[in-house]
Amino acid sequence: MNSKSKAWWLGHSAFRLESPSGKVIYIDPFLTDNPKTPDNLRHPDDVDYILLTHGHEDHVGDTLDIAERTGCQVLAQVELSHLLKKHGLKDDQAIEYNKGGTVHFDDFSVTLVNACHSSSFGGEYAGEAGGLVVSFEDDICFYHMGDTNIFSDLELYGELYEPHVIAIPIGDHYTMGPQEAAMCCEMLGAEIAVPIHYGTFPVLTGTPEEFREFTKEYAETKVVIPKPGDQFLGN
Ligand SMILES: [Zn+2]
Repeated sequence: MNSKSKAWWLGHSAFRLESPSGKVIYIDPFLTDNPKTPDNLRHPDDVDYILLTHGHEDHVGDTLDIAERTGCQVLAQVELSHLLKKHGLKDDQAIEYNKGGTVHFDDFSVTLVNACHSSSFGGEYAGEAGGLVVSFEDDICFYHMGDTNIFSDLELYGELYEPHVIAIPIGDHYTMGPQEAAMCCEMLGAEIAVPIHYGTFPVLTGTPEEFREFTKEYAETKVVIPKPGDQFLGN
């Protein structure tokens, strides 16, 4: 038994989390084609759950391969889940979810919440994009914002979920950039922010240093900047 939840950033929007009892959870496992993911972390074989924020390639990534290799459960918003099944995901591995709903497991739960973004998979409409609130038994609440801009529900999310750690997109172009992201930190009142969705491709120009500077202006949140592959929680 582990006693604490753990988290590693794998580059872009991809994370490995471990629950207190040792369940292994991947979020948005874009790994083999992710130029920032370290080589030795591209082919995990000990996955219990994959959680998806939306259908774009840089988020679904290796989901179907990992699911086939490991037999893990895949949680995706309803329309995306249907498309994944069309592309080979087995029925008994698919768990659908939708916004506001919470799915409970042994020592953690997952709530799908809003994100302001689009979603498609394989050229087909894949429902709405979301963010994920993962709450662990040891009271760690990890909020992965998915791809999004700033929106006023975040104040409610701060009140409702009291996130300890937020994973927040800062790269600009397809999502918000550093200044909007810093304002989200204030709205959420998070203790720790981990910047994501930057530097993977040349168009994602927002930098974690700019984000850290803006955050000092707006919020008390501590900005933690892991290198791809680094563990930043529970170590
Ligand atoms: Zn993206």
